[in-house]
Amino acid sequence: MNLSIVIPLLNEDESLQELHDWIVKVMHANGFSYEVIFIDDGSTDRSWKVIEDLISLNPNIKGIRFLRNYGKSQALHAGFARAKGDVVITMDADLQDNPEEIPEMYHLIKEENYDLISGWKKKRYDSVMSKNLPSKLFNWAARKTSGVKLNDFNCGLKAYKNVVVKNIEVSGEMHRYIPVLAKNAGYGKIGEKVVKHQARKYGETKFGMNRFVNGFLDLITIWFLSRFGKRPMHLFGAMGSIMFIIGLVSAGFIGINKLIRLYNDLPTILVSSNPWFYISLVTMIIGTQFFLAGFLGEIILRSKGHQDRYKIVESSNIAELQE
Ligand code: UDP
Ligand code: MG
Repeated sequence: MNLSIVIPLLNEDESLQELHDWIVKVMHANGFSYEVIFIDDGSTDRSWKVIEDLISLNPNIKGIRFLRNYGKSQALHAGFARAKGDVVITMDADLQDNPEEIPEMYHLIKEENYDLISGWKKKRYDSVMSKNLPSKLFNWAARKTSGVKLNDFNCGLKAYKNVVVKNIEVSGEMHRYIPVLAKNAGYGKIGEKVVKHQARKYGETKFGMNRFVNGFLDLITIWFLSRFGKRPMHLFGAMGSIMFIIGLVSAGFIGINKLIRLYNDLPTILVSSNPWFYISLVTMIIGTQFFLAGFLGEIILRSKGHQDRYKIVESSNIAELQE
């Protein structure tokens, strides 16, 4: 099969039929074999009914239904697990992404051998204050921390090699950073294609302003995990040891200083009246805790067993491995 088109949706009943017809038209025009996987992320409107009707009429349509709303990332994850096509496309259900872009994205993956092609909504049809400005900032921060040079991380329209989606774990609200997840999994040939974007035709956006707060927190998580997720001791152990040593040396200094002054009959204060004493105590305690956090992290990693420590390419693709 050429293509799997994965479409997460929440309360988009008005758009689905139109989206389906448009996709089918593009697939036929290009002679693609395809499947469309709709993932109903706990809709409370007629979305699932519409999907069932589509399934009964078109054998290429598949549906997954969540019993409650789990979020776009979980919906994508469920779709990725079932995608069989050589190239996997994700797109939004609200008709903002244009199916006409699919053939060219397919060719970029197939012929130019890209791992991932991300859409770039160069000209956006969303409101300036709530989307365009914050998203510029957000994309800038994502570029800086991840080193993936994309203009538009959060575009719903993307194309992947099938192996890529099988080897990334999209959880929480990580759908905004799939290119970063792909890069961290070793799929670094990531490209960008300018795509046409439409204003939302029906319904309204499902993400409010909190997308930016959550987005930045997720960005920190991802940066942190990719740098220290596999070796927590390198961060926490180092920080903890340094803090502990500083605390110990300064506590020692306070004590020795006191003894020397006593010996020389100089005026002294109680060690516990010296503010530095408390600072060094706190430093030693926090240092120990950092060290323990690192150590616990290492134990947790060990107990996960051997699976998933590294990703390999099967021997039939040995040429790819040697590149
Ligand atoms: N969506 C989803 N689960 C959610 C929120 C959104 O499956 O919890 C879907 C939504 O139906 C749409 C896509 O994700 O197909 C993008 O959502 P939306 O258009 O609201 O985001 P925006 O375009 O405003 O970034
Ligand atoms: Mg939208």
